[in-house]
Amino acid sequence: MLRIIFVAILSLSCVSCPSHRNNSFFSNKQQKIYKTSHCDPQKSFPQMVVVPFFKRATQIVPDCNTYPKHKTALAMMIFYHHWYDWFGDEDLLVKKSLEKVMIEWGLEKKTLKRGYSLKGKLKKHITVVGMTKSNSFIWVWKGYFNKISESSLMHELVHVALRAKYGHGDRDHEGSKYDGWTVDHTAMILEAKETLRSFDI
Ligand SMILES: [Zn+2]
Repeated sequence: MLRIIFVAILSLSCVSCPSHRNNSFFSNKQQKIYKTSHCDPQKSFPQMVVVPFFKRATQIVPDCNTYPKHKTALAMMIFYHHWYDWFGDEDLLVKKSLEKVMIEWGLEKKTLKRGYSLKGKLKKHITVVGMTKSNSFIWVWKGYFNKISESSLMHELVHVALRAKYGHGDRDHEGSKYDGWTVDHTAMILEAKETLRSFDI
């Protein structure tokens, strides 16, 4: 298991090759806050916890199990690794938006008056498992089996990345009303989720 993690971290750090030091998630410059910010099961919930290695990224958790900060940080690294692989990030807009994202984890799904399906169909009174509320604020249902891979975190982070790149998150996904989201984005999400599963998170 340790060897798998080591190999994975090595390959993830290809994102941060020496010639692109500004692109590194592993600077740990704010390590003091990373060490002191943690979930306390004795205190009341929800609690806000700083996500290590992502500057000002935070998460609001409904309990300490959803999710430990190292799992969220690893999931975000995996997201960026796959995003970079598929779409690049020359101007670092996506990286910068990840560094200020706030993730609110929810224990229950929500119902919306209207929303778009993945294929771009407008539907009324739909049950949703995630929402991108602003450029840097997303709400994500905890997902199945207490696994980030079975939540919509990767999906919502694509909306965040698209907002950073195009100024809007393309709410109709693969539909043609708004530009941005393509079948490649859907494929990237599936690939990233598989990586999350190989880490069992
Ligand atoms: Zn969506």
